[in-house]
Amino acid sequence: TAPLLDVRDLRVTFPTDDGLVHAVNGMDLQVRRGETVGIVGESGSGKTVTSQTLMGLLKETNARITGSIEFDGVDLVPLTETQMRPYRGRKIGMIFQDPLSAMHPFDKVGVQIAEAYRVHNSTSKKDARNHAIEMLRRVGIPDPVARYDNYPHEFSGGMRQRAMIAMALICEPELLIADEPTTALDVTVQAQILDLIASLQAETGSAVIFITHDLGVVAEVCERVVVMYGGQAIEEGDVRDIFFRTEHPYTKGLMASMPSMTDDAGRLTPIPGFPPSLIDLPHGCMFAERCPVAHLIQDGRCFTDRPALRVVGDGHRARCHLSGDEGRALVSLQGSMEV
Ligand code: SF4
Repeated sequence: TAPLLDVRDLRVTFPTDDGLVHAVNGMDLQVRRGETVGIVGESGSGKTVTSQTLMGLLKETNARITGSIEFDGVDLVPLTETQMRPYRGRKIGMIFQDPLSAMHPFDKVGVQIAEAYRVHNSTSKKDARNHAIEMLRRVGIPDPVARYDNYPHEFSGGMRQRAMIAMALICEPELLIADEPTTALDVTVQAQILDLIASLQAETGSAVIFITHDLGVVAEVCERVVVMYGGQAIEEGDVRDIFFRTEHPYTKGLMASMPSMTDDAGRLTPIPGFPPSLIDLPHGCMFAERCPVAHLIQDGRCFTDRPALRVVGDGHRARCHLSGDEGRALVSLQGSMEV
């Protein structure tokens, strides 16, 4: 069956005083109904611009967007802001790192959730209120009738995040985009929020995209993972493939940068170097300047040719000249050691 979301060759550029920023550079992404997909990357990898583009949040900015974002068979890229409205909130919900960015500080939490329902459903205020109270109960807010009348600042950080989840899910969207939803929370509350999203997803059958820099979150909740670098997907696969059959040198570096139980100091081992300039993109591989194995290809193609996503296993692809049968053959031809 066709995926719920099918993103092809998405490119997003922004003019700035310093030049054109190439934030997303040929992103492909497929999400099936009910599936949980993680998009992982450092800041500047293009993951947040990708999620904002999926939600149509860049429509009235000076961003230039090309490629296609097919949602349930409809390409969202050419839609105007008005045509996008039935999708945003109703069919595609979004939760952010900071609930205060999604909520008005001077409106009651319950009223904001009820209004999110009324925008997409012709119903009475009383019915919307009842729906909002029921949703507050479902996300675990104690005494939801009394809490309906609270303002956002009267909620704790974890409660605000629950309220934002209530607001995002009240219309039962087919796709929920969660952009770093637990980053600002302490570890215990993080786990509770991840459990909450997973249980609501099981109830509603919605697909979820988790945008995160946290591989721990990915391991816990995602079925499939897309790793982004330089505005492109550089590796994608089943969560087990990404963790145990890691292919791309950048993903290997990310794995090595995770705090390890076996590392006495519990230290992060950051990947040396910096992400590529998005104004002056490299001609070859986006990761070439930081890649510890670029030298294995003696013809220097890492610095001259942009690698394509190559199939390296069932549902597993990597964007590296060294990947796949062709890449391995190239290395053995050159008599280099295994990578
Ligand atoms: Fe490294 Fe070259 Fe592969 Fe890029 S294409 S990840 S530079 S080996």
